[in-house]
Amino acid sequence: MPSLLRRRDCPVCGQAHNFCLTTGPIAAGQAFAFRCPVYDRPGLLRADAAGEMTRSYLPGAISLEDAPKPRSPAGCPTMRDEN
Ligand SMILES: [Zn+2]
Repeated sequence: MPSLLRRRDCPVCGQAHNFCLTTGPIAAGQAFAFRCPVYDRPGLLRADAAGEMTRSYLPGAISLEDAPKPRSPAGCPTMRDEN
């Protein structure tokens, strides 16, 4: 069942987006990778609360993917996009 985070500030563009994880529940504190549609750039979102379970995918919501592990081994760069 998909899970939603509504109107969270995007760390890439600063605007609020709706985010959706199609593969299961969103737990508070969990980090996800996504692509901001405003700048078409990747970002990382950390859930500030558990996601809302939903029966259907919210149109226009940005899909979330499991983020890479926070502590990467040396030599394996994180996906963080420094500006
Ligand atoms: Zn954005």
